[in-house]
Order: sequence, then C-alpha cells, then structure tokens
Amino acid sequence: MIEINNITKKYGKFIAIKNIDFKVNEGEIAVLVGPNGAGKSTIIKSIAGLLRYEGKITICGKNNKTIEGKRLFNYVPEIPSMYPLLTVDEHLHFIAKAYGISNYKEHAEMLLEKFDMTDKRKKLGQELSKGMQQKVSIMCALLTNPKVILFDEPLIGLDPKAIKELKKHLLELKNQGVTIIVSTHLLDSVEELWDRIILMKNGEIVLSKSKNEFQLEKESLEDIFFEFTEGN
Ligand code: ADP
Repeated sequence: MIEINNITKKYGKFIAIKNIDFKVNEGEIAVLVGPNGAGKSTIIKSIAGLLRYEGKITICGKNNKTIEGKRLFNYVPEIPSMYPLLTVDEHLHFIAKAYGISNYKEHAEMLLEKFDMTDKRKKLGQELSKGMQQKVSIMCALLTNPKVILFDEPLIGLDPKAIKELKKHLLELKNQGVTIIVSTHLLDSVEELWDRIILMKNGEIVLSKSKNEFQLEKESLEDIFFEFTEGN
C-alpha cells in the first residue's frame, strides 16, 4: 500500500501541488484523474522519487526514496525511454539484473507473449515504434514483481490487444494484492478497473473515495469527474 502525507511541490515559486494526502490500500486500483495541469504527473513523479518535494511518501511502510522502498515499486512513465542500442530481450535482462532477479526467464517469456512482442525480441530500442516502446516499458516494470505500480497514461499509444491484455493483467495483479495507481484521461477505458478515484484540480485533491463509498452504484467515472471538476 501507499501513503502520501502532506506533499507540496513547487517549481520555482509556482506551487504545482499543495498539501496532498491520500492512501491507496493493498490490492486496490486507484485512478488518478483531473484536468490538464491539475498536478497528476507531478504526484506520480514525486512517488517515483524523481522530484524533490516537501512531505512524506511511504510504500508498504518504507520511504519511497530508500533502496528498500524502491525495490517495492515500479513506474511506467508517460513517455517511454529506451536504451537505443539494447534489444527488447536485453532490456528485460538488464532490469532483472538491476533488481537482482535471477530466475526471470519464464516470466519474461510470458510477458513477451502476452504483449505480442516475441517476434520483436531481437529489435533494438531505437527500432521500436512508440507503442512497442510502451510495451517494453510496461514489461520491464511488471518483470520486477512490484508491490506497488504507478502508470502515467499507460493506454495512450497501445494497440487494442495490448490495452485488453494490460487491463486483464492489472486485474490479475490486483487479485494478487498489488497496489496500482493509474493516471489517465481515458475514463471510459478504466471504468471496469477502478476501486478508488483520486480527483485533482489546481494542485489539490478534490476527491479521494473508494467505489463502494458512492451512493449511486451506476455513477460512472465521467459523471463523477464532471460533478467535481465543474460543480454540476
Ligand atoms: P497534469 O499531469 O495533471 O497535467 P502536471 O503535474 O504536469 O499536471 O503539472 C502541474 C502544474 O505544474 C502545471 O501548472 C504545470 O504547468 C506545472 N509544471 C509541471 N512541470 C513543471 C516544470 N518542470 N516547471 C514548471 N512548472 C511545471
């Protein structure tokens, strides 16, 4: 599980996110939504340890910036970044080595198959399309068996089969107790996945609520989004 306590991030004098608090429980899929500029990427990058900020973030009780904390989570950025001269196989091998995972081969084969990348395994990073790079980025994150996984706009650029496989995989991970945060604009596409909505606006949380706290079961993510961002 993941706990965010009183996080404030300033870019120079500009306060991008202010006093953010929320918690996502073990085995929950949280969708992080909000208009452009609300602060979603800033919070995801803060959790991933890529920014300096005020406040405290813990992953299963460990500070996110410690080695113990970093072992427990992984992050799929919005824009994948490949090593241009490593093949797909070598990316997986490199990540497994970096995380000290020795028996990763079977897991890697399963991921390659799931994301239709088996025949692309010898391609170099620089030869991959944007969607393929996104798939490699996702496979590398999943290979480390994280307890918490962060996705920044994971579905953009993926083909329909990969979207279907990723959603199926997220539900499997959730059932294994993995905590998942997905930042997205594609509300329809995560409708069947979410357990908790974290809605941001102007750098603040306007709503953090689990699905079963809503009175109306039929309320869609889109209804909730507009109700809280436009006050209708
Ligand atoms: P979102 O992901 O919700 O679209 P961001 O977290 O990217 O929002 O941005 C939140 C606010 O912080 C925006 O006003 C954005 O312009 C600002 N911002 C983001 N990154 C930087 C940066 N590196 N320097 C200055 N301002 C930034």
